[in-house]
Amino acid sequence: MSEVSPISTTKPPCLRADALAVLLRLRWAGHVAYFAGGCVRDLLLGGEPKDWDVATDAPPARVRALFASTQAVGAAFGVILVKQGRSTVEVATFRTEGVYSDGRRPDAVAFTDAAHDAQRRDFTMNGLFLNPKPETQNQKLAEGEIETAHGVVIDYVGGVADLKNRVLRAIGEPSRRFAEDHLRLLRAVRFAARFGLAVDEQTAIAIAENATKLRGISPERVADELRLMLTPTTRERAWRLLWEYGLVDVIFRFLPAEPERAGFERERSLFLRVAPGRAISFGLALAAGVLEYRMAGGHDVLGLVTRQEILKSERGIREGLKLSNDELGAMVGILEPLAILLADLEPGVAALKRFLARPTAEETRALLRGLEELGMFPARVTSLEGRFAELLKGDVAPTPLITGDDLVAAGFSPGPRFKKVLDGVYDAQLEGRAGTKEEALQMAKELGG
Ligand code: ATP
Ligand code: MG
Repeated sequence: MSEVSPISTTKPPCLRADALAVLLRLRWAGHVAYFAGGCVRDLLLGGEPKDWDVATDAPPARVRALFASTQAVGAAFGVILVKQGRSTVEVATFRTEGVYSDGRRPDAVAFTDAAHDAQRRDFTMNGLFLNPKPETQNQKLAEGEIETAHGVVIDYVGGVADLKNRVLRAIGEPSRRFAEDHLRLLRAVRFAARFGLAVDEQTAIAIAENATKLRGISPERVADELRLMLTPTTRERAWRLLWEYGLVDVIFRFLPAEPERAGFERERSLFLRVAPGRAISFGLALAAGVLEYRMAGGHDVLGLVTRQEILKSERGIREGLKLSNDELGAMVGILEPLAILLADLEPGVAALKRFLARPTAEETRALLRGLEELGMFPARVTSLEGRFAELLKGDVAPTPLITGDDLVAAGFSPGPRFKKVLDGVYDAQLEGRAGTKEEALQMAKELGG
């Protein structure tokens, strides 16, 4: 559910045919009903919408009465979910919104017509409606109506022209719109990046002026937006805009403060050099982002990948963004091996194999190559990459020759030295110094004795 601010769940699928059936049912019942918002925008941009949201003048109670299976998740805001075929269709009653006293959601809404509903939407390209099957063909189009292959687009906000000129523009007075709902600050960046749009000047000024208000948005919702903007191939633009508008300082405000911080510089951006042209995980995006942000505060890479500094980064991210343990763990897991890989002394075979066996090894390597692109550690990275390629021809994570049970059977008593011995023997195995179980046991006895 995306339309209504207070509710955040993953939305079930919604097919065009099912949404159209809902729309037509509303219309047969005498109501105005259009496709609205993101789906109209996506169609005009030549894409395939993932969601088909319906907007109508039927009040929520009427929507519930018209369909057999509904769910009133956002009834107070005029949003009803209708089960239709294999889809769950979001049906929103045209509404205007009252004041936003908390910067997140309106205190009250009032039901209204399409023209007013368009005004409460965030950006002109998101304020469009589509009438897929006009009831009277060849009818003269009213002002703001545009015939398209998909039906008649109804544009009360100049969204069609903005889309054509590839401009992202807030509907109404930009400053007021960002002040009333601070999540729009991030939505603006996300949409501008995703569709490669220029941000209208007044809109851009208003984002920068209101940037610090992002503090009022819950860490979950900030994380949701960042995940969407920083992982796809269009993330470069998103990253630059976050810096340009000062949003990056709000997002990373829980990282250690620095007396001085350099601004964004394209030539020095690690984030832009990590796996360009490929989608990346959120963990990798954060690992690169945090390193770059802290490097701008005057640190060098090696100073940032010590256990202690990684812990500080982890804490700062945990506080600013509510992430799954997997994502936070991945970020840490990607950063951790850098200390060993970039240490003065190049690591041995066992350490490299252990590294390559990590689930996030590929992502750490992408980060390494990014650093190399920046001219950092070029000789080391070249050397490491050569050795990785060589080692990956074989098995980097063979089954251990001996286990704890074998040690017990050999007369060891379990204790703190146990793991050390097993690790030492496994290193020997990885380096080819122990090839059989007997050799491994012999080595364990030497190490343990
Ligand atoms: P996406 O493809 O990312 O889902 P979308 O435009 O469909 O993009 P949703 O979050 O699904 O975005 O919202 C649907 C529509 O509701 C938007 O197109 C917009 O018209 C309106 N909307 C959503 N969030 C806001 C907001 N914070 N402020 C104003 N209007 C909003
Ligand atoms: Mg949507």
